[in-house]
Parts: sequence; structure tokens; C-alpha cells
Amino acid sequence: MLTIGCHLSTSKGFEAMGRTALSIKANTFAFFTRNPRGGNAKALDLDDVAALQRLMDQNSFGPLVAHAPYTYNPCSGKERAREFALEAMADDLQRMEALPGNYYNFHPGAHVGQGVDTGIELIVDTLCHVMFEGQRTCVLLETMAGKGTEVGSRFEELARIIDGVVTRRPELSGRLGVCFDTCHVSDAGYDIVHDLDGVLARFDETVGIEHLRAVHINDSKNPCGSHKDRHEKIGEGYLGSEELGGGADVMHNIVSNRHLRTLPFILETPQELCGYAGEISYLRSLWQ
Ligand code: FE
Ligand code: FE
Ligand code: ZN
Repeated sequence: MLTIGCHLSTSKGFEAMGRTALSIKANTFAFFTRNPRGGNAKALDLDDVAALQRLMDQNSFGPLVAHAPYTYNPCSGKERAREFALEAMADDLQRMEALPGNYYNFHPGAHVGQGVDTGIELIVDTLCHVMFEGQRTCVLLETMAGKGTEVGSRFEELARIIDGVVTRRPELSGRLGVCFDTCHVSDAGYDIVHDLDGVLARFDETVGIEHLRAVHINDSKNPCGSHKDRHEKIGEGYLGSEELGGGADVMHNIVSNRHLRTLPFILETPQELCGYAGEISYLRSLWQ
């Protein structure tokens, strides 16, 4: 069975997210680990977390893909901003231990003119500080669209970050991977409409396919290589719409690809809950 869900609000707690997921026939979901505007995260309600765990076990959920707020920039030029990212990520990873065995996805950040090399160094530093031996959460770098000075739109950059961490902290290998965002990868210039296999072969040569652990399945409002990062509903953008050069076969290839088909898929499309239910049932129908 396809493991698929969407991004959900944490406002009513953990068990409520699980129930919402079930109501749209999802068997995974994503959520922000804290309020993106910063400040302290709410204290964890461990009974609520346990209730979600029970619900997930009873309904054969796949792993969840928690998302760090977009406001973290571990490679900012400002020390205060880097410190905030570091402290918040460290705290998020401690809290994730209450719900072991899931994913924690984050945006590598923007180097804001310091250059990619410095950006990568700062990201490696941050990960080496916040990750710890024995952690049960796998940290995922998200493939980025390459908007502005974003780091992580080239597979080579993701590979350098992972190599940098594992060289310094070999015990963390296996706890670091990549979340493949289809809108971002296409916007970054990888042609997944015409050559998904070729793109994944390049991923394998640079990063290693074993590091691919989750997929953000989004359509894109913009053509391949646009570096825009504007998500579209499935079937209405450059990946899934025939008028725009894509189509259902492209979506079928993504969800059924032998390297992707068993990973958790998360929708981050501009939808309400009933729209997500429709996308989930559509993508389930394409899965082989
Ligand atoms: Fe993201
Ligand atoms: Fe994403
Ligand atoms: Zn995006």
C-alpha cells in the first residue's frame, strides 16, 4: 500500500492529527515541530503522544515526516540566527524521541551571499551539534528549488553535507538522509517529467539512493529550472497537467518508481482537507 498523507496542523494535538489523517485515508502525515514564528515549543503532552502512537500502530501507519519551521537558517550570516536554528533543532530532536522512529525534515538554509562552501560548512557544523549518538529519528535534508541563495538545490550540495557530517561523526551515518520534493527538484532544473529514472540515477551517483527516505509530492506552478518554489495542486501544474507538458503518467511514474514507491509521500499542495483526500485517492489509484 502507498504510504501517503499531507501536512497537518498541530493545533489540536497529536492524536487529533492521527484521526484527521485517517479521515482522509492517509497513513502518514507531516507537521511543524513548533510555531514557525519562533518562541518556545509547547510542552509535550505524553498521553496525547502515546494515543497517537497507539492509533498509528492499530492502523499500520508508515513513518511520519515532521518538518522544521522554515524560519530556521543554520547557515545564516548572523550568529544569532544560526544559534536560534541550532537550539531549536536540538530541542526538536530531543522531543522527537517521544515518538521514535520517524523523520525530521529541514531546509538546509540560505547562505545569504557567504557562498555555498561556507553555507555547507555551517550546516555540517549545526548537524554535528544537534544530532546525537543513539537518536531514533532520521534527519532529512530537503531538496530545494534554488530560490535566492538556498543551499541544497544541487544533489552535489546535499552529498557534501552528508559526507561532511559522517566524516566528523561516523556514528551518525544511517541517521541522515534526503527528502525529495518533486516541485523543488523540478524547479531546480532536474527534468523529472521526461527522465525521472535519469534524475534518480544522478541522485544515486552523487548522494547514494539509500539516502532517499521520503518524498514531498507537489505539482509546480512553474516549468523545470524556474527556481521559484511555488507548489501547485496535483494535476494542475507542470508535472501533472497535460496542457503544461506533464500528465497522469508523470505522477504514476513518481509514485510507482521502484526507488520511491515504498517511501512516505507527503502532499504540500495548496489544498483544504477535502482536496487532500481527493489527491490521496487519486495517487493511490496510480500506485503499482
Ligand atoms: Fe519543506
Ligand atoms: Fe517540501
Ligand atoms: Zn516548497
